[in-house]
Amino acid sequence: MKKLGLNTICTHVGEIKDEQFKGAVSPMYLSSSYEFIDVDVKRYPRYFNTPNQEYLSKKIAVLEHTEDAMIFGSGMAAISTMFLAFLQKGDHLVVQNTLYGGTVNFIKEEFPKYGIEYTFTNGYKVEDFKAAIQANTKLIHIETPSNPLLTITDIKAIAELGKSKGIVTSIDNTFASPVNQNPIDLGIDMVMHSATKYFGGHSDICAGAVASSKEHIERIWNVGKNLGGSLSDMTVWMLERSMKTLGLRVKAQTKNALKLAKWLDKHPKISKVYYPGLKSHPEYQLAKSQMKGFGAMLSFELVEELDSQQFQQELKLIKSSMSLAGVESTILSPHLTSHSLLTQEERHAVGISNQLLRFSVGIEDIKDLKNDIKQALKVTKQASFA
Ligand SMILES: *Cc1c(COP(=O)(O)O)cnc(C)c1O
Repeated sequence: MKKLGLNTICTHVGEIKDEQFKGAVSPMYLSSSYEFIDVDVKRYPRYFNTPNQEYLSKKIAVLEHTEDAMIFGSGMAAISTMFLAFLQKGDHLVVQNTLYGGTVNFIKEEFPKYGIEYTFTNGYKVEDFKAAIQANTKLIHIETPSNPLLTITDIKAIAELGKSKGIVTSIDNTFASPVNQNPIDLGIDMVMHSATKYFGGHSDICAGAVASSKEHIERIWNVGKNLGGSLSDMTVWMLERSMKTLGLRVKAQTKNALKLAKWLDKHPKISKVYYPGLKSHPEYQLAKSQMKGFGAMLSFELVEELDSQQFQQELKLIKSSMSLAGVESTILSPHLTSHSLLTQEERHAVGISNQLLRFSVGIEDIKDLKNDIKQALKVTKQASFA
């Protein structure tokens, strides 16, 4: 068969045919117990191989251009299982300094218990990764675009660095989604996702995924069956339903984000916009070369005088919300959420000011998003500096 287009893959790949009743959508198989005599596969939910898990994995693998994939109960279940499959006592991980907070916590809180060493890079340039490599480095992990400043890491250069040293490479591709970025094509070995974000897309599912070669997935499976981070089949089914519109949603969100970033960039009450699709972004050219679209996440800073908390409260359509990537636009203050455990000085050092707001752009009509921001800016008062 000819290579399928994105929306056809999202809609059809990994469907389970309803042979019994000829229904249009995949049946949901909730059995936690399956026949074991004379069967090809011994199925069990925690083995990640119930019919719904197995078939949805196919869709994810095709979207990420890999041989195989696994679905997990959360993004953190995916990342922790992947890390523990490739790192054991005495091994060393090189990991990007700007990273999802939960991943940072996992590394700092759990690695010492397992005797696994790690180094956070000093920056996101390939030289920073090179400098952090040790003789016992077994894995390099990156995140691009990163949260919340949307820095861009050179995926191909990292993949080449890993290959030249015999080190496996992995990426958190949550922010871009396979709609905007396919790291496997640039040489990365393993791609993970918080499926809670764009895969789910409606802020009502918690899930995760890893896509890679059959060999690597088998290694992850061997650890995964022990850690037990599988997803319930009811949620797997909901995830399949959500993913049918992944291409449509993320493309619409990406289009909105680019328009909004350009508009905010010109607004006198916004002092800075962070978005890889702006020509002023330091890695604009790199983003253009490795991404299919610039994604739907952006950050911006209000001018010093304005109260950023009041601004968020004045928004009527755009919700302030911890998570991201739903069809609805949401906004948050990194200094009060993901980076609240850092001191003011530490935040300053990584470029996160109290005026910084992270925006997850939804599918709403762009004029309504602009109008909401306009009316909120109009009524937002000067910060009192009390
Ligand atoms: C949310 C998120 C995770 C963690 O995923 P959960 O589903 O919350 O466990 C990992 N990486 C990134 C970039 C995320 O945004």
